[in-house]
Amino acid sequence: VLPDLSPDLDAARQCLAQVFGFSGFRGVQDQVVGRVLGGHSTLAVMPTGAGKSLTYQLPAVMLPGTCVVVSPLIALMHDQLRSATANGIRAAALTSVDTDREWTIERFRNGELDLLYVAPERASQPHFRELLGKAPLALFAIDEAHCVSEWGHDFRPDYRLLRPLMDAFPQVPRLALTATADRHTRADILEQLGIPHDGLIVAGFDRPNIQYRIVPRDNPLRQLTRLLADNPGPGVVYAPTRAQVEKLAEQLGDTGRRVLPYHAGLPAETRAANQEAFVTSEDMVIVATVAFGMGIDKPDVRFVAHAGLPKSIEGYYQETGRAGRDGDPSVALLLWGADDFARARQRLSEVDQSRQQGERTRLDALAGLVETAGCRRAVLLRHFGEDPPPTCGNCDNCLEPPGLTDATELARKLLSAVYRTGQSYGLGHLEKVLTGVADERVTARGHDQLSVFGIVPADQAPLLKTLARALQARGSLVPTEHGGLALGGDARDILKGLAQVEVVLPPAKERGGRH
Ligand code: ADP
Ligand code: ZN
Repeated sequence: VLPDLSPDLDAARQCLAQVFGFSGFRGVQDQVVGRVLGGHSTLAVMPTGAGKSLTYQLPAVMLPGTCVVVSPLIALMHDQLRSATANGIRAAALTSVDTDREWTIERFRNGELDLLYVAPERASQPHFRELLGKAPLALFAIDEAHCVSEWGHDFRPDYRLLRPLMDAFPQVPRLALTATADRHTRADILEQLGIPHDGLIVAGFDRPNIQYRIVPRDNPLRQLTRLLADNPGPGVVYAPTRAQVEKLAEQLGDTGRRVLPYHAGLPAETRAANQEAFVTSEDMVIVATVAFGMGIDKPDVRFVAHAGLPKSIEGYYQETGRAGRDGDPSVALLLWGADDFARARQRLSEVDQSRQQGERTRLDALAGLVETAGCRRAVLLRHFGEDPPPTCGNCDNCLEPPGLTDATELARKLLSAVYRTGQSYGLGHLEKVLTGVADERVTARGHDQLSVFGIVPADQAPLLKTLARALQARGSLVPTEHGGLALGGDARDILKGLAQVEVVLPPAKERGGRH
């Protein structure tokens, strides 16, 4: 039975205003803080930007003793430390790079710290357990708690040592925090960290002010230039490689906007300066690899664009989630190409056998998101275990429902052309064969003699590109080493008439910008 939490929450609201300067709790913060103040172990699943750190920092300030925070990244830890200290919270970190360790230990033992950040490796060291025994403890906070699960995407074996460590202090409540956890991973985290099942609190993942737009990449520079023109506020453009970051930053800079690059290959000072410039700017665009964004606190980002396919739906959600934290209308634009899927499926074949199934599932989920003719938000939220309404009114497909056409017959023609030409030609050649263009290359290979020569009427020819893209996204067509196309996935089922293919009709006009 939960104790009456209202008196605690009144005190918590006061502290929230006085120490953090916030006028109220957001989302499930009050639920989480209430449980923690009541001494109940909790797993809080809250999307990035929902304000996870507050849920342990506030109890850390209010409760006697220290809140020990386990966090996997030193850089992240130091960001948190800086902002806590700026709020007047007594905080320190014990890591290999912190030099004032003696003093920190002294303060910890004397109960003079609200927060002590440690890396998970420390949990395995016997003298750390000893130290915990000598200091007054208020709470264990485990940040990025999905690292404890092999089901998560970021397993850290050291996290497994936390349970035995915390079990030695059964009176101290535990608060595990993560932004990414499907049902499976959640159950595993509860298990691995010894948190009761009724201690799970999941925040809604919906970000209603973000408008999702997902369109084929035909001319990225033009598509992004238009996005910039429609959205004068600050924005992030994610590009897959450092080289692409450099190039896009330069090209987009020509539009007159202030555009700076950010990637791990830049000197540390340049990175820091560019990040700082972005954070303080009201109209700047930063072109970056996914290295950018972790721990960055900028509420007024008006758009996040992806120039290439993200790694997973989780990654997409996290990266687009950096837009519009202030709640104002914001845009998330994803430009994708068949080659993105081709590369991703290629990489799939190179990963460890044991990880292949998981990776394939992740990629299929992503394909489902880009290929859907339905609501993008519904696909996203269902992925995170929610039960959303079928339409949202604020994504490209809801705003302009695309036409959907049954392309099974055309798919069978395309796949048989791939098969009959020996699974080694690219789309250009296949299009010629199918539409009956007997150029030199076609006749030299005898492809004008095949039964598939000229079987696609001219009015259907324009759909071949869209279809090939969709078939690559779903894996029915896979690239060969030499840039040709081969059959894959369910291609044989399609050929045999056992599987259907529907494609989203290409829009009459560009759907890249805002309306
Ligand atoms: P997360 O770790 O969940 O990604 P953070 O803890 O970094 O999120 O918080 C995101 C932002 O929200 C920060 O700028 C933080 O100061 C702000 N924030 C957190 N809680 C509140 C609140 N109750 N009211 C206003 N802003 C808040
Ligand atoms: Zn929608």
